Amino acid sequence: MFLKGKTALITGSTSGIGLGYARALAAEGAHVMINGFGDADIIKGYVAELEDLSGAKARHHGADMTKPDAIRAMVAECAEKIGSPDILINNAGIQHVAPVDEFPEDKWDAIISIILSSSFHTTKAALPAMKAKGWGRIINTGSMHSLVASPYKVAYNSAKHGLAGFTKTVALEVATQGITVNNICPGYVWTPLVENQIPDTMKARGLTREQVINDVLLANQPQKKFVQVDQLAALAVFLCRDEASGMTGTNLSVDGGWTAQ
Ligand code: NAD
Repeated sequence: MFLKGKTALITGSTSGIGLGYARALAAEGAHVMINGFGDADIIKGYVAELEDLSGAKARHHGADMTKPDAIRAMVAECAEKIGSPDILINNAGIQHVAPVDEFPEDKWDAIISIILSSSFHTTKAALPAMKAKGWGRIINTGSMHSLVASPYKVAYNSAKHGLAGFTKTVALEVATQGITVNNICPGYVWTPLVENQIPDTMKARGLTREQVINDVLLANQPQKKFVQVDQLAALAVFLCRDEASGMTGTNLSVDGGWTAQ
């Protein structure tokens, strides 16, 4: 339990990859604040499960990542209730699939703010305490779409590429202060986010569900299988170790070979 006494704040962690990070960090003893939407009783259950795993404190904060004031309030409440975040994981994300000339303006704004701008607001709020402690880990969930593009995902690709630049910039600014900043870049991971984009992709490309899974999602993933949440969570845990203190400003691909092409 090498994270005993440390606090982790993970955005978008009531589901999928974020929940996987929360479980893995709690299993190493960290206090954990999760964030995201969902059924109140189910979220209560996750909080209890995290406290069982860690023997430490867990909390949920429902801040909407499109709202800077709510984000600042979440970071402040984390500090007050379970400690200022030593580990910040910027993970919240949504997707929308449509050709650029038909892409809805409100979806563009939502995707850019939830994925990219929220990472700026959380980081700005959390960094002073990390600097004061001389230790911190900021981990962003990018994507293979931080490095390469796919059609019909203009907002997502733009936000995730932006996150790669954000990662490098912050990493350079805090390089001498015991704080590392890295961008984990998954290929397709089987989570609700992927499942939910299947109907739109079926519509945009005129394909069946099976064709979307095999001929679109996994077509460029050379291993022909989805990345697992546990694989990403294990990498996040490693990034928190002293052995990873020399890794900063990187894009770390866990994409079944996607970006090797
Ligand atoms: P998911 O849909 O399972 O989870 C998304 C989480 O974000 C949920 O907890 C949801 O409540 C939260 N969320 C959504 N909008 C929010 C908002 N406005 N404010 C606060 N929370 C909000 O998705 P996932 O697949 O686990 O994705 C997590 C991250 O991983 C995203 O950034 C996504 O882009 C990235 N990613 C996913 C895949 C994949 O194949 N699943 C691949 C690469 C990158």
